[in-house]
Amino acid sequence: MGQWVYLNGEYVPQEAAKISVFDHGFLYGDGVFEGIRAYKGKVFKLDEHLERLFKSAKAISLEIPLSREQLKEKILETLRKNELYDAYIRLVVSRGEGDLGLDPAKCPYPQIIIIADKISIYPEKLYEEGLEVITVSTRRNIPSAIDPRIKSLNYLNNILAKIEASARGVPEAIMLNKDGYIAECTGDNLFIVERGVLITPPTWVGILEGITRNVVIELARNENIPVEEKVFTPSELYSSDECFLTGTAAEVIPVTKVDGRAIGDGRVGRITKKLIQSFRELTGKEGVPIYQEKEEKSG
Ligand code: PMP
Repeated sequence: MGQWVYLNGEYVPQEAAKISVFDHGFLYGDGVFEGIRAYKGKVFKLDEHLERLFKSAKAISLEIPLSREQLKEKILETLRKNELYDAYIRLVVSRGEGDLGLDPAKCPYPQIIIIADKISIYPEKLYEEGLEVITVSTRRNIPSAIDPRIKSLNYLNNILAKIEASARGVPEAIMLNKDGYIAECTGDNLFIVERGVLITPPTWVGILEGITRNVVIELARNENIPVEEKVFTPSELYSSDECFLTGTAAEVIPVTKVDGRAIGDGRVGRITKKLIQSFRELTGKEGVPIYQEKEEKSG
């Protein structure tokens, strides 16, 4: 059986979850979204995801017709309705139906959609051996045009990079910013380790401020691993000791080859391994319980 999808206040079977062809989310990529995970019956970093959603919405002058608390409850309800325990949640707020012009003022009713499904992730082997990735020619959007900090429905920049990666037979693409500094991947943030220091690009370079990125920075600081947010070039990446990506779907995943060059000795490094382990310990331990009443009664 298919999933129940939350669509503007109602739960509809996925086959019936349809939106208007006049929705500006469809016509122009005008809207915002979040990808969220639930581990072992708990929604991970839900407040942080909602915070980012509301920030993204504000940046595009989109008023979300539900409060944070209401959205939170709808997300939990969607998970309960689908009897999910470990899940991937896609929360979308589109501008809504308008006319064929661009004007968002003609779209009075933003659409809220919540899809919850089982998650398909990279095979475990890749967490043990690392990914091979490439840098691509598509540059990350410049912040003064479309700020990558806005998690908008307009993902064509990332899709163009993904097409380059797929054409070269690798699962991810590293995008540079307009000045040639490493920005991020199509759906993940990037970290390197150099002489024991964890380094990641600062958000002003033009990246999404990943929730997983922030969790990893915090985990590293708790473990006394020095962390620096600073710019670096592809050659600094090639000569780094370790590299990994972070994202809600990928979690923390090692990279052992970039543009044909082995990173470090070509094996997953010590700090990467440590952070994968700490991240896995945290998920499932922390989070907003989906089945609160049941847990309280039994616990
Ligand atoms: N960068 C981009 C472009 C993304 O789309 C994502 C995830 N959707 C990330 C980074 C990682 O962010 P998060 O850890 O919040 O999933």
